[in-house]
Amino acid sequence: MSTTPCAESPMAPIAKPAASGATAQATRKIWIDGELIDREHATVSVFDHGFLYGDGCFEGIRAYNGRIFKLQSHLERMYRSAEKLRLTPRYPMAEVAQAMRQTVNVNGLRDAYIRLVFSRGVGTLGLNPFQCPVSGTVIIADSIELYPPALYESGLKVIVADRPRIPIKCLDPAIKSLNYLNNIMAKVEAIDAGVLEAIMLNTEGFVSECTGDNLFIVKDGKVSTPSVDAGMLHGITRRFVIDDVAPACGIPVEERMMRIEDVFAADEVFLTGTAAEVIGVSHVGETPISGGTVGPITHKLSDEFRRRVSENAPED
Ligand code: PMP
Repeated sequence: MSTTPCAESPMAPIAKPAASGATAQATRKIWIDGELIDREHATVSVFDHGFLYGDGCFEGIRAYNGRIFKLQSHLERMYRSAEKLRLTPRYPMAEVAQAMRQTVNVNGLRDAYIRLVFSRGVGTLGLNPFQCPVSGTVIIADSIELYPPALYESGLKVIVADRPRIPIKCLDPAIKSLNYLNNIMAKVEAIDAGVLEAIMLNTEGFVSECTGDNLFIVKDGKVSTPSVDAGMLHGITRRFVIDDVAPACGIPVEERMMRIEDVFAADEVFLTGTAAEVIGVSHVGETPISGGTVGPITHKLSDEFRRRVSENAPED
């Protein structure tokens, strides 16, 4: 089935009622290279280097009440990732934006998680990416799986992973590449320890980020977060908290290199991410943070974040 171009402008809000439950899941449509395909038939070639080598990049994006949160920032990060991988996107940014709106709309979603994937495309079994003439584009829009609401009150338990974050020189963590094994193996460390997230250090021992979230600390009323020089995904939620949410609460944020000792000594620790939003940390390993609960500044920032995205989520 081929798609008709969406008449909406890339920044226009989505306006369709939400479908729900198993029926909605079964009838989901996935956008693949310009066509909307039924979920059960939505497949890619085994010769796609995205499958063979994790060669490609992706974005995880949220729609709140019909508005795609920070759509433009996500698209810019996606095209930056592609450029760093020397992957040529098949479609221009505006067309991908339109296709994302179309995929959300056709699935009757208003609150959604959107996955955008560029794969290197179909090629030979060799590594050479330039023998893959056309890159692949996939858009999945689904209902969002969230942390249980109680966790936002009690706080998240995390560990410090043994495994360091991959150095910038090897594969810049700022690239949201399809090769997530560094994060996955650290996540396995967390799961083995019975928790949901792990703090990752870089190979020089500086705090980098978590497996799927960025990290902030609060000490003596001051909020700080590791500098991107430590090597990390430049989180869209992190940037929104630094530039908009915290200033609106009268709380400046400092970006700096930090050691794990700074985290253990913090009054509060919180994480940011597309799925998690702003979530407090109650324990790092066996060490309670903020008395083993969620601190007041975290609550303030989390509430302000929620207010902003639920009222009128910015799409820029
Ligand atoms: N770090 C990593 C490794 C991530 O995968 C993510 C996204 N899940 C984040 C941080 C948070 O980034 P964002 O706020 O853009 O979702």
